[in-house]
Amino acid sequence: MDKEREIFTAQAQESGKPAEIIEKMVTGRLRKFLGEEKPRDDMAVIRADKMLLDHYTKKDRVEPSVLEVDQRLSGLDTEVNLGYSREQTLEESQRCMSCGYCFDCEKCWMYCQDQAIEKPMDKGALYTFKMQNCTGCSKCAEVCPCGFIEMH
Ligand code: SF4
Ligand code: SF4
Repeated sequence: MDKEREIFTAQAQESGKPAEIIEKMVTGRLRKFLGEEKPRDDMAVIRADKMLLDHYTKKDRVEPSVLEVDQRLSGLDTEVNLGYSREQTLEESQRCMSCGYCFDCEKCWMYCQDQAIEKPMDKGALYTFKMQNCTGCSKCAEVCPCGFIEMH
């Protein structure tokens, strides 16, 4: 376990993020490693009409690298598709729109006039709702760009 912590810490430090964020990244990766955090399959599919697309900056897809044509016949096991480099992966990840999952844009919190939404202190934690203050005006759901808030 110490070995895994060491490896995850070294990987997280490469991001250049502050120490408290590094610690959270390591904790998350350890939880995933130990199987405590499983991918959820109960999340709704968020289609474009549930999102505020004008919130996002249009960014072209990063095309994965491929082997030059003249090098492709060098052997039958030559891999043509080279995939993404680390830099390309990071760049492509900037296109993520976080469909259906809160990405901490603060909009709901800023627009709620009744102080019914509490912003989390910890990065990555979810916003909480104080139902005793909520009037059900739906503003938070209207301004959430990624369709995370749904009114029932
Ligand atoms: S429904 Fe209205 S009052 Fe309730 S949390 Fe959302 S913005 Fe605030
Ligand atoms: S719930 Fe939506 S509006 Fe609120 S912070 Fe998260 S992404 Fe932004």
